Amino acid sequence: MRAIVYEKFGERPELCQVADPVPPADGVVLQVMATGVCRSDWHGWMGHDPDIRVPHVPGHELAGIVVAKGEQVRHWRIGDRVTVPFVCGCGDCAECQAGDQQVCRAQTQPGFTHWGSFAELVAIHRADLNLVRLPDGLEFDVAASLGCRFTTSFRALVDQGRVAAGEWVAIYGCGGVGLSAVMIAAALGARVVAVDIAAHNLALARALGAEVTIDATACPDVPGAVITATSGGAHVSIDALGHVQTCRDAINSLRRRGRHIQVGLMLGEHSAPAIPMARVIGYELEIRGSHGMAAHRYDAVFSMMAAGRLDPGRLIQHRISLAESIDALVDMGRFKSSGVTVITSFGGE
Ligand SMILES: [Zn+2]
Ligand SMILES: [Zn+2]
Repeated sequence: MRAIVYEKFGERPELCQVADPVPPADGVVLQVMATGVCRSDWHGWMGHDPDIRVPHVPGHELAGIVVAKGEQVRHWRIGDRVTVPFVCGCGDCAECQAGDQQVCRAQTQPGFTHWGSFAELVAIHRADLNLVRLPDGLEFDVAASLGCRFTTSFRALVDQGRVAAGEWVAIYGCGGVGLSAVMIAAALGARVVAVDIAAHNLALARALGAEVTIDATACPDVPGAVITATSGGAHVSIDALGHVQTCRDAINSLRRRGRHIQVGLMLGEHSAPAIPMARVIGYELEIRGSHGMAAHRYDAVFSMMAAGRLDPGRLIQHRISLAESIDALVDMGRFKSSGVTVITSFGGE
């Protein structure tokens, strides 16, 4: 198969011909029909993820067709159209038994714990637990765009943040995660303040439902501006970027008893942020993480899509080829593009 491979962290990946994957006994091989380009792939390529062994193939936001399966797989057939959460559960640990596969102790992640979906084919473990059937009519590119950023934002707002209609939600960072959060929060009836440093991202945030946008480059006190705009502070804050400053500013934007959900990964130099703990105590703030969403929760997203309340396809700004994904991956650290980029062509070109 054709795949994007890097031999060393930080060294430019190449489009190579490599051996096809074989399905695990409990797993499947999918023909990849679409796969998103995510900042987590960039972190992995930079060497920030301890699970990755080189040579490596990135890619974890995928949708495709079952083309091979192991003998233990019961629920899936060749030809089924599926997607998969970026965290796949083992099915056996206490968290998986409780339905929290997104924090499984023995989790597998395509593109991290094994080769991912910047390729024509990808292997997925524990298929009966982790695969998600695509509703008829849901395009592969839209399904792929759900896999990581959208579902992580959905879980952050719905399950972890418990956002209610009429509440204020402050969202720091308007890349793929943040724009997903804007769309979902607006669909829940919340009022959204979006913060970013790029005018084109803020324009997208407004188009997706943000009531207030703040350009952090033109604002010396962003938390203060959020508190003013929300008449006393946000009920829920989201750091969708994963940066020591946006994490702290997001927490400082909350009103008393507010909830902060950390969605952006805190890696490298941002791995140990200074949390304003006096404020956390004095205001009785809550701080939680969101680490993806288990396969069985996808129905909640699909039903909001079917009702016309969510339209994740609007987040897709670029559709590219496998060859073009090399530049897209390398440029991810520079925050040049806006919205979500999805690889949709895998054949020879
Ligand atoms: Zn991702
Ligand atoms: Zn598990």
